[in-house]
Amino acid sequence: MAAARKPRYVDVSNPSLSVECPRCGLRTARFVDHCRNCGYKLWPSSVVASAAFKAWRDGDPSRAEASRFELDLPVDEGGPVIDYAERAHQLGIHLFPNSNYPFIICVGSLFLGLAAIPFSGTARIVLAVIGGLIFLYGVVGWVLVEDVRMYPTETPSTQGEAHH
Ligand SMILES: [Zn+2]
Repeated sequence: MAAARKPRYVDVSNPSLSVECPRCGLRTARFVDHCRNCGYKLWPSSVVASAAFKAWRDGDPSRAEASRFELDLPVDEGGPVIDYAERAHQLGIHLFPNSNYPFIICVGSLFLGLAAIPFSGTARIVLAVIGGLIFLYGVVGWVLVEDVRMYPTETPSTQGEAHH
C-alpha cells in the first residue's frame, strides 16, 4: 500500500519548487499533477505528485514551510532587526524604558481603587496608604530612576554634533 504511493523518481537534490512545462515552456508548480498554464499532465496522479512533494520536502529541513502550490519557497519575513530604543534616541523621541514598574503602579492603583469602596473608615485609610505607597514607589522607580538612567542629560554624541 505504502510502496505503491512512493514516487517512481523525484530529484530531491533540485531545490526548485517550480519547473518548466515540457509542453508550453512556462513555469508551473513542480508538484502539482497538471501544468497550471496549459493543463499538461506532469504527474500520473495527484497522489503521486503529493508523495513526490513530501519526499522532496523531507529531503531538506529548510523546505519544511514550502507549499506544493507555490512556485517559490516562502521568504523569511522576519524583517530587519531594528533597535527602536537607539533609533528613538537618535531622533530625539522620548521612549519610556522597558520596565516592570508599570505593573507595580497597577497594583498600587488596585489598592487605591479598593480604598474607594465604602468599608469602615480605618480599612479605607489603610488601603489608601498601602495603595498610595505602592503607586508612588512604581512612579518614582519608573520615571525618576529607570528613565533617568536610560536618558542621561548630557550624551557625548549630541556634544559632538554641536561642534561643527
Ligand atoms: Zn504547460
